[in-house]
Amino acid sequence: MIPAQFEYTRPGSLGEAIQALAGGGDDAKVIAGGQSLLPLLRLRLAYPSLLVDIGGLGELRGVRDAGDALVIGAGTTHYSVIADPLIREHCGLIAEAAGTVADPAVRHRGTIGGSLAHADPAGDLPAVIAALDATLLVTGPGGEREIGVADFFVDYLTTALAPGEILTAVRVPKLGPGWGFRYEKFQPTAQAWAIVGVAALARRDNGHVAEARIGLTNMGAVPVRAHAAEAAAAGAQATREALAAAAGHADEGSDPPSDLRGAADYRRHLARVLTGRALAGAAGIG
Ligand SMILES: Cc1cc2nc3c(=O)[nH]c(=O)nc-3n(C[C@H](O)[C@H](O)[C@H](O)COP(=O)(O)OP(=O)(O)OC[C@H]3O[C@@H](n4cnc5c(N)ncnc54)[C@H](O)[C@@H]3O)c2cc1C
Repeated sequence: MIPAQFEYTRPGSLGEAIQALAGGGDDAKVIAGGQSLLPLLRLRLAYPSLLVDIGGLGELRGVRDAGDALVIGAGTTHYSVIADPLIREHCGLIAEAAGTVADPAVRHRGTIGGSLAHADPAGDLPAVIAALDATLLVTGPGGEREIGVADFFVDYLTTALAPGEILTAVRVPKLGPGWGFRYEKFQPTAQAWAIVGVAALARRDNGHVAEARIGLTNMGAVPVRAHAAEAAAAGAQATREALAAAAGHADEGSDPPSDLRGAADYRRHLARVLTGRALAGAAGIG
């Protein structure tokens, strides 16, 4: 289908983009890589009056070392995230999960900021940055602010971004020594969306898992932290059996959807199985 008519502007700076958004009122929308928004426009599920194209803004792209954290520009494409040496060294979970997003064409255009701002519960990166305890950096007409990941995802396709605000970057704490990671994605076919995904981090110490963090994809309207499984894994022996037992708590507190690709109970089962695998992988035994 052909999208409804809209105005289009390509600002030369973040400041100009904020101004353009403010000038466009409630019906103005940002477009970055267009990999989520363009399909919505073509289906006429979205019909903004103005598109503010931030895809050309170099200031939103790239990865910066900020001491104990990395700052990843919102306009950094999945492809660049996967290839970035700083991300691979300090937050490899993001690169691993980004490598499972769609296909090479989508990964070359789609951005990390677009994936997070779009807030699709089936998207891979929201659960990953939830597990990594990231912070979202935002700029709007009122200036800059920071939003912790636990407060960023509000509901299905809904974030804490206020009208006129642009997500500029994600600050991700570096993983220290002893931490391992694994993203497990169960998908109907290669290069497809997750039916369920599990992002796991584990810090191994002396044959045990000292600490674990787990984010679940597509197990609710927003990414879910599997706190009960995290607590059960902390202190467990780093064996498949012990971690599978901890993973038995993975779906507690989740609210998975039932749809054509899977019933809620099936998703709960997948979450438990995949969490066992992801924890084992993160602990270096899987
Ligand atoms: C065929 C196909 C398969 C896909 N498979 C997967 C998959 O397996 N896993 C997965 O996670 N994703 C998948 N996706 C989705 C896609 O990869 C991401 O959602 C996409 O990368 C979003 O980034 P974008 O830059 O293209 O965002 P856009 O499409 O440009 O924007 C998406 C939304 O975010 C807003 N937005 C974008 N950037 C900002 C910003 N900086 N600040 C504020 N708002 C912003 C826009 O206004 C819009 O509402 C798939 C997409 C396609 C087309």
